[in-house]
Amino acid sequence: MIFSKKLITLYFSLFLGLLSSVSPLASQETPRLEQASISFRIGHNIWSNDARFTQLLELFDKYPDATDEITFFTQGTHTPITDEELERRCVLLKQRIDEVHAHGYRAGINILCTMGHHPEDLPHSIGSEIPRAQTLDGRIAEGTLCPNNENFRQRIRRIYTAMANANPDYIWVDDDVRTGHMLDSSGTPGSVCFCDNCMKILAQKFDVEIDRDYLTSHMSDPIVLAKIHEFTSDSYDKLFALIEETIRKISPDMPIGFMTGERYDEGYDFERWAKTLMGPNGDKEAYWRPGGGFYEQSYMNGLFGKSHEIGRQVSLLPPEVVVIQSEIENFPYQLLMKSANVTTLEAVSHIAAGCTGAAFNVLTNNNEPLDEYENMIAKVAERRPFFDLAVQKLGRNPNIGVFPLWEKTDGSYQNRTPVQALTSCFSETGVPIAYKFLPDQTNVVLLSRAYLSHKTPEEIKKVFQMGVYTDLDAVNLANDPATYALNDLTGMGYGGEIHVDGIEKIEEHPLNGSFAGRTRDLRQSFWREPIYSLKKTRPNVETLSSCVDYGGDQTAETIVGIFENPLGGRICVNGYYPWGNFYNYSKQSQIRAIIRWLSRDRIPGYVDSFAKINFWLRAPNADGSFAGVAINSNYDPVEKVAIMLKTDRDSIDVYDYSCQKTTVKASFSDEAGYRRFIVPEIKPWEPVLFVCE
Ligand SMILES: [Zn+2]
Repeated sequence: MIFSKKLITLYFSLFLGLLSSVSPLASQETPRLEQASISFRIGHNIWSNDARFTQLLELFDKYPDATDEITFFTQGTHTPITDEELERRCVLLKQRIDEVHAHGYRAGINILCTMGHHPEDLPHSIGSEIPRAQTLDGRIAEGTLCPNNENFRQRIRRIYTAMANANPDYIWVDDDVRTGHMLDSSGTPGSVCFCDNCMKILAQKFDVEIDRDYLTSHMSDPIVLAKIHEFTSDSYDKLFALIEETIRKISPDMPIGFMTGERYDEGYDFERWAKTLMGPNGDKEAYWRPGGGFYEQSYMNGLFGKSHEIGRQVSLLPPEVVVIQSEIENFPYQLLMKSANVTTLEAVSHIAAGCTGAAFNVLTNNNEPLDEYENMIAKVAERRPFFDLAVQKLGRNPNIGVFPLWEKTDGSYQNRTPVQALTSCFSETGVPIAYKFLPDQTNVVLLSRAYLSHKTPEEIKKVFQMGVYTDLDAVNLANDPATYALNDLTGMGYGGEIHVDGIEKIEEHPLNGSFAGRTRDLRQSFWREPIYSLKKTRPNVETLSSCVDYGGDQTAETIVGIFENPLGGRICVNGYYPWGNFYNYSKQSQIRAIIRWLSRDRIPGYVDSFAKINFWLRAPNADGSFAGVAINSNYDPVEKVAIMLKTDRDSIDVYDYSCQKTTVKASFSDEAGYRRFIVPEIKPWEPVLFVCE
C-alpha cells in the first residue's frame, strides 16, 4: 500500500516535468496512471474510540485492497468546534496517523469545518468571538464564520498549524467552504457573506454605492451577479492562499485537497483555486474531490446525474490535478439506504465521468461497532481491480462526444437543471457526453434557451455552424427579430401549439429507417407539456416526425425537423417532449441517427443496441489508442451489445466487472469509418470497460 503512494508521486513528478516543456491542452499529453486513488473517510466517533479504531484497522487489514488511504474527519457536526478542542483532537490524530502508517496506509486529515457548513450543535461549537457570515437579507448564519476578517484568519493559522503538526500525508478542506450555509430552502443564489465588512470589500467592485437592499433589488442583473460571484471566488482564493502558506510552512510538500459541488454562485473558479493550492510556484500537489447529492438508491438516475455534475466539475480542473477522488457519500450512513453494489458502481460511474479515484464516506458516524459494515468494505476490495484498470486506461483524457452547452459563467444555480436534463437523456441513450467544449473534438451540441439567453448574435452564429439538437423554446429566441433574427440558420419556427391528445408519428425518412409509421405517445392528458408544430421557414427542412391524434388524424405536419443551413450547420428541432423519454426502440434509434447525422459522421462512437446504457468515451492518446465505459443502467441483462466506434482498429478488448478480458473483433464496418463491436453481455447494473489499443 505504501508502494501506491510512491507510484502516484512518481507519475505526478513525471507529469509536472512534461508540462514544463509542452502545452498542457492536448489530450495525448495527459499522464498515464497506474491505479485508482482510493480513500475511506472516517468519522470522529470511530477514530476517537480505541476499540472502534482497532476494529477499523482489523477490517482494512482483512481487505487490504479496499483502500490506500485512511482520512480522518475532525468532527461529525457542521459548525466549527473550538480551536482548543481541535488542537486536542490533533494530538490523538497524530497517534492514529502513526498507527495507520504502521499498517501500510497513507493517512490524512479532513477538516469538516473551516468556515462551517450550517447551524448544528451550537452549544458545543465555537463562540461568538469570531463573527458569523450574514445572508443578503441580513440574517446571521450561526453555523458559519465570515472568512474575511482577521480573527478568522488567525484561527485558520492556528488550526491548520495544529493539523499539519499531526504529520498527515495530506489535508483536505471540506465543502463547508461554500455559499448558502443551508439557510435558504428556496434555492435562491447565495454568496459567501454579506456582513458589513464583506459589503465594504464587495463595494470596491462597484462604481455605484451599494448596500444589501441595492443588491437584493439587482439580483437578476447579470453584471451584479458576476461581481458577487467574483467576490466569493476572491474570498475562497484568499482563504486558500492562507491555508497553503500555513500548511507548507510546516510541511513543504504536503498535498492539499479541496472538495467541491456544482455551485455556480461561487464563480466555479476551480482552476484559480487549484493553482493557489499548488503554491506560488505551482509545483505542489492539489487534490480534488468533486461531489453532489446521491445518498440513497431509490432513484437510480440520481447516480448518473451526480456523475454528470462531477464530469462538469472535473472538466474545469487544470491537468496538473491528477488525484481526483469522487465523493461517495451515504449520509447519514444508514447502511440499507445504499447497497454495497450501488456504492461501488457509483465509484465506477464517477471514474467514467472523469475521476481518478474515490473517497468512500460510507461507514457509520455513530459510536457503534463496525461489524455490519464489513460487507461494504469487502465489496470495495472486490471491485478495486476494476477501479484500477479503468483509471489506468482512461487516465485524465477528457470525455468526448456530444456537448450539452454550458459554461461556468452561466451564473445562476437555476441554470443547472436544464444542463442536467439535456445531459441525462442522451447519456442513457448510449450517446457519449463531453463535459467541456474541445474545438478539435466537438461538433454536436445540445442547446437550451437558458444557454442562448446570455449570448451575443455572433456567439450564437458560431453555435449554429455546428450540429445542434434543440427545442422550439431556444429556436424562438434565436429567431426573435428584435434580438438575433437567425431564421436563416435555424430553418424552422413556431407553427402553433397542440395541448391535447398529441402523439408523435415517425415518418418515412432515411434517418428513421424501418421505424417509419411507429408512434410515441407521452400522454398529454397526464403530463401536460405543449407540443409545438414546426413551421418550415426555409425550403430544405425535412420532416422526421409528425403529430397525430387518437383517431390517427394528422394535427401537425412537422414536430421533429432537420435542416442544413448556409453556414454548413445541421440543426434538429424537436417539438415533442425533447429532453427525455427516449425509451422505446423507435425513438431511441431515431435519436442516435439524428446525432450521427448532426455530426456528419464524426461522433466518435455510440451504443447501437436497444438498451438503457450510459456511455462515456475518452479522447484518444497520441498513438490512437482510446478507452471508454458502458454501464447497463437497467435490471435486465443486455446480450450482444453493439458498440459503434469510429476507428481503424480491427478489435477491442472488453473487460467485465471481474476484469475478465474478451477480445472482440469488428463484425462490420461502414463507408463512414465506423466499426461495430459486439460485446457478448453486460449484466444488470454492471459496467464494461472497453479499450482500443
Ligand atoms: Zn463577512
